Amino acid sequence: MKNIDLHCHSTVSDGELAPADVVARAHAQGVDVLALTDHDEVGGVAEATRAAQGLGMTLVPGVEVSVTWANKTVHIVGLQVDIDHPGLLAGLAQTRSGRLGRAAEMGRRLAGQGIDGAYEGALALAGNRNLVSRTHFARFLVDGGYCANIQEVFERFLGPGQPAFVPMQWSNLEDAVGWIRAAGGQAVIAHPGRYDYTPNAFHALYETFRDLGGEGIEVVTGSHSPDQYAEYAQVARQYGFLASRGSDFHAPGEGRVDLGGLPPLPAGLTPVWERWL
Ligand code: AMP
Ligand code: MN
Ligand code: MN
Ligand code: MN
Repeated sequence: MKNIDLHCHSTVSDGELAPADVVARAHAQGVDVLALTDHDEVGGVAEATRAAQGLGMTLVPGVEVSVTWANKTVHIVGLQVDIDHPGLLAGLAQTRSGRLGRAAEMGRRLAGQGIDGAYEGALALAGNRNLVSRTHFARFLVDGGYCANIQEVFERFLGPGQPAFVPMQWSNLEDAVGWIRAAGGQAVIAHPGRYDYTPNAFHALYETFRDLGGEGIEVVTGSHSPDQYAEYAQVARQYGFLASRGSDFHAPGEGRVDLGGLPPLPAGLTPVWERWL
């Protein structure tokens, strides 16, 4: 069985490895098919594709779009997107546009918590100045000894409701799914187990997403516990979604799993890759 990993990040967003190095690491971990899915950016896909060709691997062009739905952030992964599609590129540029100002505000709020220099520190860690993410702030706070690990940073400072959380209006769901589809891609709800919605809101999200032409849902991801693999496998069956698998790898030693390191999809699901492999 092929090892297929359809979610990871490079220095083009909040990963710590350059696109070619992500591909090389995936290859070393036994991955056969890898999707690079940087936040709101496809700028690393060309480099990753070249690296994969040299290694005899398949690179799936992807992206992870930040969306606000029902006042909360949802991530929508686009797979097999045309990275030159003007509508997709314009939509992603618009989605990214608020990040730098938000980062400055996060820096001010952290300063109010007695943590100086966080904006400059996060920017220095960001490989792409237009893609400063909370992860860069989290790494800065861990490096500075303010928190023991990234999880603690989100719990104390950066998570929803915490003092340095700056609410964002990202893209809307209709636009994000529309850009992905216009670019020939398939839209997939990323790590549903991370969203803090009521059961009714989840139901509405799934129905709305499907009505918009969304096709898939991540079932096996580095963000889910084994119990959640079963829970979202059931959601995939119930709503007729294609199932996806992705590590959400960001950096060596960070997060729960490495590239390709997840179990296979539960039985009885239609994989999102069925039509391409
Ligand atoms: P942003 O798009 O700037 O809001 O940052 C979102 C990123 O922060 C996610 O893609 C993860 O990489 C990271 N993140 C969010 N919540 C957590 C958490 N609870 N623990 C660790 N990383 C997190
Ligand atoms: Mn991330
Ligand atoms: Mn995500
Ligand atoms: Mn991700």
